[in-house]
Amino acid sequence: MADKRDYYEVLGVGKGASDSELKSAYRKLAKKYHPDTNPGDKEAEVKFKEASEAYAVLSDPEKRRQYDQFGHAAFDGGAGGVGGFDFSGMDMGDIFGDIFGDFFGGGRSRSRSNGPMKGQNIRTSVRISFQEACFGVDKEIDIVLKDECGSCHGTGAKAGTSPQTCPKCGGKGQVVFTQQSLFGVVRNVQSCPDCHGTGKIIKERCPDCSGSGYISKKKNIAVSIPAGIDNGQCVRIRDKGEPGVNGGGRGDLLVEVVVGKDPLFMRQDRDIYSTVPITYTKAALGGEIHVKTIDGEVIYTVKPGTQTDTRVRLRGKGVPSLRNKQVRGDHYVTLVVQVPTKLSHEQKEALLAFDKAMYGEEEKAQEQEEEREKEGGSSKSKGFKRKKKK
Ligand SMILES: [Zn+2]
Ligand SMILES: [Zn+2]
Repeated sequence: MADKRDYYEVLGVGKGASDSELKSAYRKLAKKYHPDTNPGDKEAEVKFKEASEAYAVLSDPEKRRQYDQFGHAAFDGGAGGVGGFDFSGMDMGDIFGDIFGDFFGGGRSRSRSNGPMKGQNIRTSVRISFQEACFGVDKEIDIVLKDECGSCHGTGAKAGTSPQTCPKCGGKGQVVFTQQSLFGVVRNVQSCPDCHGTGKIIKERCPDCSGSGYISKKKNIAVSIPAGIDNGQCVRIRDKGEPGVNGGGRGDLLVEVVVGKDPLFMRQDRDIYSTVPITYTKAALGGEIHVKTIDGEVIYTVKPGTQTDTRVRLRGKGVPSLRNKQVRGDHYVTLVVQVPTKLSHEQKEALLAFDKAMYGEEEKAQEQEEEREKEGGSSKSKGFKRKKKK
């Protein structure tokens, strides 16, 4: 076997390649040369085998150590070798299971055993309001849960009988079958088709649960939703999922929280955003306004000369932290100045009088500024100046 290529070279990786580098190099080659994508191509088939062999050796720490020390001789049974490396006897399903999944004919369920197994989790959802999400709420939900059947105690066998050991798998729940493939003989482990992996066969079914071993019942479950929860987050209720198998514990119930929209408040993490209209007069003169928060109304004092779209912060009026209720976000309020509409004659007069007063003021101010500029002083004012003719 002197003309055999170096395994590292085959995979195109360095001697120090990590497991994940090996895996990704192999995955690339396997995809490229896979017989399914190159039907009838002998060269591709050889390349595929070569890469697979290289990966099989290098992905096994012990074989890799031997290969690093002795090269191909390690598996030839030659000098210094630790016995022959019989490629055909390897459990290829095990090695490639994680790369190809069901590629070798469904060896995926091989990890299934008939030991104690925790039950599956159940997922459901509950709708709550914006306020409930902020402060927490207790809800009740109805859900259908399986319980062990009282008549057969979960065995599924009719009272007085008991489940028999499955003759096909000998109670293991798995069957091994061998398959001729490109690599030689491939061993596959599958869930037993006769007993579906349970290792037991029921001759006479329990009439109460029809042999399933479980009884389904609608249950009302209390869900305590903590303050600060956000849309899409889950509350986990331990041991309210599917029952376990062979003495395993129950799974959990995962309740996804769907938070309704609020007409006033928007939320981003722990902060709340809202808009509040203020009158033109209040914006100009300042004064108290009422602002709705999740704690109720608060009074905020607007500064004189407040512009529209000014954002003010109400510290600590946001959403409580999920971890610590005492810690809260802030509430940002955008003040929007309202322009009055539908003015009466008197109101219009008043506005015009106001404008005149304002206009005069501005004119005076501008004249003063122009004078300063003439004197050589630089004005930093870049503010909007009303253009006017004299
Ligand atoms: Zn039963
Ligand atoms: Zn079986």
